[in-house]
Amino acid sequence: MEHTELQKNVRILATLQETEFPVISCYLNAEQGIAACRGYLAERSPLLRRTISAAQRESFDQSLEHIDAYINDNAQAPDVRAIVVFVRSVEEPFLLSLRFPVPISNQLSVDRVPHICQLIALKNTYDRYVVVLMNKKRISILDVNLGTVTRQTWSEYPVSPDRIERQWSKERYQRHRRKQTEDTIREKIKALDGLMGASAHSHLILAGEPSMVERLKASLPSHLRQKLVDTVYAQATDRLNDIVNATLSSFVEFRQQHSRTCVAMLQQAVYTNGLGTVGTDASLQCLRHARADVLILAEEYNPGPAWQCRECGDIQIGQNPPQSCPECSITQFRSLSVEEEMVRMAEGSSCGIVTVQASEFLIAGGGVGCLTRY
Ligand SMILES: [Zn+2]
Repeated sequence: MEHTELQKNVRILATLQETEFPVISCYLNAEQGIAACRGYLAERSPLLRRTISAAQRESFDQSLEHIDAYINDNAQAPDVRAIVVFVRSVEEPFLLSLRFPVPISNQLSVDRVPHICQLIALKNTYDRYVVVLMNKKRISILDVNLGTVTRQTWSEYPVSPDRIERQWSKERYQRHRRKQTEDTIREKIKALDGLMGASAHSHLILAGEPSMVERLKASLPSHLRQKLVDTVYAQATDRLNDIVNATLSSFVEFRQQHSRTCVAMLQQAVYTNGLGTVGTDASLQCLRHARADVLILAEEYNPGPAWQCRECGDIQIGQNPPQSCPECSITQFRSLSVEEEMVRMAEGSSCGIVTVQASEFLIAGGGVGCLTRY
């Protein structure tokens, strides 16, 4: 799947209208095949089935059948390391099944709306990028989407005919080869520029033999150099798969660095009374009033039980629902997952979402924060 398609699907999930029937969100790590996927469901689903209302049980069972059919058809396929299914049966049926070449953690949730936090984390971690891979014989451009090469163009450097080579001095031949390589690099940079501009790619990785990578890097125009994430050295004999995996690790590290930069900006904003806030209540307020520019979540974020007013949508945190809503005095509440609600609101208002690992500042601030627009 292409990254842009995943973005579209996330938007559909974030705006899915709720009904009386539950949406099952199912994330399965498929690295151990079909049996492991089914094993997790067999362990987790009885508790959910027992505790949902009797009226919803038929819908729940039908949804599990859809999930099982998808596991059966996909969990064994090569390169499938994760399966994700969102399904609602009976009223206004909805089904979205996805497979990924990168691993995820098992999760089975039942709620009025899809649980998309993990899908968004996956989308952010494995954003798409372009790799230019070169050695002394050939140069290629790879499009990497969610950890997989989705498009690849190779070109060999033109080779001089033997007849000419024999007649030329070694020096003349090397000069000729150098010029050919330079011409090819120029031509590839032109193609790369077109590709990155046309498909709005914003991340580039150069890979290959060190001398060639350095030559290419030196020839990049400044607007492409700004998109350069990293360089990865590889030999011509290395397997393509290994090279792509090396670029992927490098890209994941780059994304984590980006998350840390966002936290540093948030910290600066909080300390200087600038455009940023931390804590669950403050972040919810920002999101509700569309003032959040970037939602920053600690990976460990867990605000505990939360309650939403059925009238005005106000959210309160606590073990038990409040006596009455502080906004509209209504006494009817329903439970909800704050983290999921936050990412849904963020998606709905074009607010960026960033997940951060092990940030002391963010954890001390309540595990969540927002960079704000004003
Ligand atoms: Zn209210």
